[in-house]
Amino acid sequence: MKKLNHYVIRGEIELLSGTRIGGSDDVLQIGGTDLTCIKDPTTGKPYIPGSSLKGKMRSSLEKHLGKVNGREPCGCAKVDCPVCRVFGPHKNTNHTLGPTRIIVRDAPLISGEFAIENKTESVNRRDTGAAEHPRTVERVAAGAKFALEIGVQEFDMDRDFAYTNHKEEKVTGHDALLEVVCHCLDLVEDTGVGAGTGKGYGKVKIEIQPETKTTRRNRRGAGAPAATAR
Ligand SMILES: [Zn+2]
Repeated sequence: MKKLNHYVIRGEIELLSGTRIGGSDDVLQIGGTDLTCIKDPTTGKPYIPGSSLKGKMRSSLEKHLGKVNGREPCGCAKVDCPVCRVFGPHKNTNHTLGPTRIIVRDAPLISGEFAIENKTESVNRRDTGAAEHPRTVERVAAGAKFALEIGVQEFDMDRDFAYTNHKEEKVTGHDALLEVVCHCLDLVEDTGVGAGTGKGYGKVKIEIQPETKTTRRNRRGAGAPAATAR
């Protein structure tokens, strides 16, 4: 197994609705303390953790492909499974797919200086419909923008990996890997990020800089043109 290339996808995530980042998708916990946004401890500004974006990308693709097995992420480890190839087979250490291909960086805030807003939420009693337990939650306001950066590693074993692009054309190799990642980002636009997406929170627009989709750094001794023989 040999790493051939490292691609970097860059872009921007813009919030189209208030977003709770770092909270859980569970129903509001009574007396819960998980009501603040995740913030960078050095700048005090909110950010989108790479792990949470990656999780949303993965679960969105699994739903789209019908690879949802209860609450567990896909761990089938089949050579043609885009989820397992790109994100790694869940809880499956005995596979031949190689390392996880995707590296999702934390997305820092790039605009929206006063991006935090407070919103009052309450839980409605199912029997009477009365609002109970009002609480204030922190959200990142619509309009805030975050910088997206995703690394994609290509290995020699990806040569035969195929995926269908948005034009219904079959692409292979690194084109297929990049297509899977971009497809996941499209699906995240449909579903949203953070907690409370069912209530309309976390709607996002994701713009990918087209030229960066193929930004490639040749690895020393891999993928680069052979050194001139002396
Ligand atoms: Zn799988």
